[in-house]
Amino acid sequence: MKEEFWAQIKADHPDYWSDKIRVMPDGYSNTIAHLFREVEQISAGRQLITIDLHHYVGGGIAASMRPRTDVDEITDEQKAMLFVLMKSWSANGDRICQMCGRPSAGILKHMDELAQEILCSEHMAERRSSDV
Ligand SMILES: [Zn+2]
Repeated sequence: MKEEFWAQIKADHPDYWSDKIRVMPDGYSNTIAHLFREVEQISAGRQLITIDLHHYVGGGIAASMRPRTDVDEITDEQKAMLFVLMKSWSANGDRICQMCGRPSAGILKHMDELAQEILCSEHMAERRSSDV
């Protein structure tokens, strides 16, 4: 990820920052920042959870959470909201272009590697034309 992107996330959301974000694709910067903002809203200024982000080799991103403080301190309503948020955010993790964050058009498979990329139509076309 470009330094300007990850540095902004780190500055805005220090509680949820992890060094893994630094090596994630640029296209995930907005969705990660959005997730952290939503969690902060639900948490009402407290650090209730730790967020683990996973970027898959096959493309896509997902998040899981662990309670950070005593579980009793998280209300049932907050638990439910956080659960729904993590689930829906992760479900959309394979529908985002890794390059720009717009809706993806498909998966680009690399013949010589295990890795795949999830890209929008524009970046798919760009990659294909440069893949000689
Ligand atoms: Zn794109």
